[in-house]
Amino acid sequence: MLTNAPKGTKDVMPKDVYKWQYVEKVFSEICEEYGFKEVRTPVFEHTELFTRGVGDTTDIVEKQMYTFEDYAGRSITLKPEGTSPVVRAFVEHKTYAEVQPTKMYYIIPCFRYEKPQSGRLREFHQFGIETFGTGNMLADAEIIGLAYDFLNRLGINDVELHINSIGCPDCRRKHREALKNFLLPKYDQLCDTCKGRFDRNPLRILDCKSPVCRELTQGAPMMLDYLCDECSTAFTELQKNLTAMKIPFTVDPGIVRGLDYYTKTAFEFVSNKIGAQGTVCGGGRYDNLIEEVGGPSIPGVGFGLGIERLLLVMEESGVVIPKPEGADVLIAFMGERGKAYGLGLMRELRALGIRTEMDVLARNLKGQLKYADRIDVKYTVVVGDNELDTGMLLLKDMRNSEQREVKMEEIKDVLIEKKGER
Ligand code: ATP
Ligand code: MG
Repeated sequence: MLTNAPKGTKDVMPKDVYKWQYVEKVFSEICEEYGFKEVRTPVFEHTELFTRGVGDTTDIVEKQMYTFEDYAGRSITLKPEGTSPVVRAFVEHKTYAEVQPTKMYYIIPCFRYEKPQSGRLREFHQFGIETFGTGNMLADAEIIGLAYDFLNRLGINDVELHINSIGCPDCRRKHREALKNFLLPKYDQLCDTCKGRFDRNPLRILDCKSPVCRELTQGAPMMLDYLCDECSTAFTELQKNLTAMKIPFTVDPGIVRGLDYYTKTAFEFVSNKIGAQGTVCGGGRYDNLIEEVGGPSIPGVGFGLGIERLLLVMEESGVVIPKPEGADVLIAFMGERGKAYGLGLMRELRALGIRTEMDVLARNLKGQLKYADRIDVKYTVVVGDNELDTGMLLLKDMRNSEQREVKMEEIKDVLIEKKGER
């Protein structure tokens, strides 16, 4: 027990962390290029934020939240998604009083009590972005474009963009009735979860992962046929914008986002490389959320992109993330004088940006050189009493075992030069 991570969680060990650092760097860079600024919010929030924001008929709120009471009896929840906390912060800090729109991005852990499987964890991580302060489809196209460019920049080109409109509460009411009429004769065959959804949130039945429910919803009335003029015009506008940006998409009336707060635009980037958990990125518009959690009536649009799934897709698509190189140099030392000299030189080299190591296990010379080999160091410098007396250090190129002597006062310049050559 003590030596197992909790079910549904994963460590990222040093040998793999470079993959995370790489995608995080590319994501931050592209967000900054698009004019999004990073926002950091707490890992936990008041539970009501999610029951109000995400909606209490959603899977997340009904059965997936990590909720507990703190010592003062407050109900606290580890964030299961990123949008509501950012909305809360936007309202709390009155950011809407500044120049609009507000464009923010974040990199966060999310917590959901789910059945763990490939691409589905209890602690997972998301890249997210949000644009607040405009209902214009330029914003929807901008964030979809950002996700598209991000995936492309990573070298992923086999994910497909699916878009839909799930309308506004007005169009949804009409669709809801039609959907219930369609499903009523099949009610008994629905899975238990969907039976529960039938009255409270029938739209979610269209998003059920059970094959039986999928079959039963074949031919069900689609939201797209129930859009009011405003929602319909917006959807056409979005498609025009995406076409102008040369971003390929498929209209997929089957897309129903898992969170209650979505209005109009809904979209997903889907990969067929990673099995059932194929949705890498999901997002959409939420014109009522900010008001719902107690702020002014301000529209918003955003997406969440699962980092674990992203890495799975990259692996399956054969995208190679550049591995970090070994240290530039290891100073192998002998004796007290060699050690003292090495410690001084190591600090100087590090200050020059040369990645330098000494063996903190203080093995013998043979052991130090073997260690240098195993951690893939490029050069070793050997220093002991002899070298200090003659003023000549032994520099060894670990890749071809070539050795040469270098004057003590030239060693820094030589190593800087070597680094520059690569
Ligand atoms: P799904 O339909 O796969 O359950 P979702 O609709 O619940 O996804 P969102 O809430 O939209 O997902 O989250 C955005 C993204 O976060 C997803 O597209 C996915 O990449 C990722 N994600 C969601 N839940 C998990 C999880 N439990 N483990 C790993 N990644 C997840
Ligand atoms: Mg889910």
